[in-house]
Amino acid sequence: MTTTATSVDGGYLINGEKTFITGLSQADMMILFAKVSEGITAFLVDVASDGIQVGSPEALLGMHGIPNVSVTFTNVFVAEDQLLGQPGRGLRIALGSLNGGRLATAAQANGISRVAFDGAVSYGLQRRVGGSRVVDFQGIQFEIAEAAARIDAGRALVHVAALSMDAGLKSDSLCSEAKFLCSDAAMDVASRALGWYGGYGYTKSYPAERHFRDAKLLQLFAGTNHIQKTVAARTLVGRTS
Ligand SMILES: Cc1cc2nc3c(=O)[nH]c(=O)nc-3n(C[C@H](O)[C@H](O)[C@H](O)COP(=O)(O)OP(=O)(O)OC[C@H]3O[C@@H](n4cnc5c(N)ncnc54)[C@H](O)[C@@H]3O)c2cc1C
Repeated sequence: MTTTATSVDGGYLINGEKTFITGLSQADMMILFAKVSEGITAFLVDVASDGIQVGSPEALLGMHGIPNVSVTFTNVFVAEDQLLGQPGRGLRIALGSLNGGRLATAAQANGISRVAFDGAVSYGLQRRVGGSRVVDFQGIQFEIAEAAARIDAGRALVHVAALSMDAGLKSDSLCSEAKFLCSDAAMDVASRALGWYGGYGYTKSYPAERHFRDAKLLQLFAGTNHIQKTVAARTLVGRTS
C-alpha cells in the first residue's frame, strides 16, 4: 500500500492512488485505507473532496453494467472524525470484510451460472438440428448434467458458508472455497452454455457471450482464485503465513 495519510492540525492529508475501484464514479462516499505512522488506517472520505481526481472508466472485457475507475489523492484533507476505528487498526477492518466479499462474489458467480444455464437450455429446447432438439444430443446432455451438478454444489456451499458466518464461526476456508468453486464453475458453465447455441452463442444476438465475459472477472477480483486456494489450504493445514 502506497497511499499515505499525514497527520496535520485537525485531521490528515491523503496522498496516493487507488486502481480498479468498482462503482466509485457512482458513489458519494468511500472507505479508504491509507498508511499513517501507526500503520494502515481506515477513513470515510467524501468523493467530492478537494484534491480527489476520479479517472475515466477502464475499458473492460465484461461487467459493463458497473464502471471501474482509478482515483488519485493530492493533499486531500480528511477531518479526525472521518477516521474509522483507531489509527493503525485499519487492516483489522479490511480483513474483517474479506469473507463477506468472497461469499458475495461466490453468490454472484452462482447467479451467472444459473442464468447462463437456463438461457442455453431454453434455446436448446427450441432449436432443432437434423430433426432433434439440441438438448436431446447425448453429448449436450452430459454437459447439462455436469453444469447442473456444479451449480447445485456451488449454491449449497454458499449456503453452508453463510450459515457458518451467521453462527459466528471461523469461516475463512469455507468462504474462500465457495469463491473459487463458484467462479470456476461460472467460467466453465458459461463457456459450455455458449456452445449449446452453436455459432449463435458467439454473436451478440444472445446473452451467452456476456455471461462468458462477466464470469471471467469473478475468478480475478475479491482476491484471485490462486489466493483463495492459498487461504483455504493454509487455513486447513493450520498455517497463518
Ligand atoms: C473489473 C475489476 C474490478 C475490481 N474492483 C476492485 C475494487 O472495487 N476494489 C479493489 O480493491 N480491487 C478491485 N479490483 C482489483 C482486484 O481485486 C485485483 O486485480 C486482484 O485482486 C488481483 O490483483 P492484481 O491485479 O494486483 O494481480 P497480481 O497480484 O499482480 O497477480 C498476478 C498473478 O499472480 C498471482 N498471484 C499473486 N500473488 C500470488 C500468491 N501469493 N500466490 C499465488 N499466486 C499469486 C495472481 O493470482 C495472478 O494470477 C478489481 C479488478 C478488476 C479487474
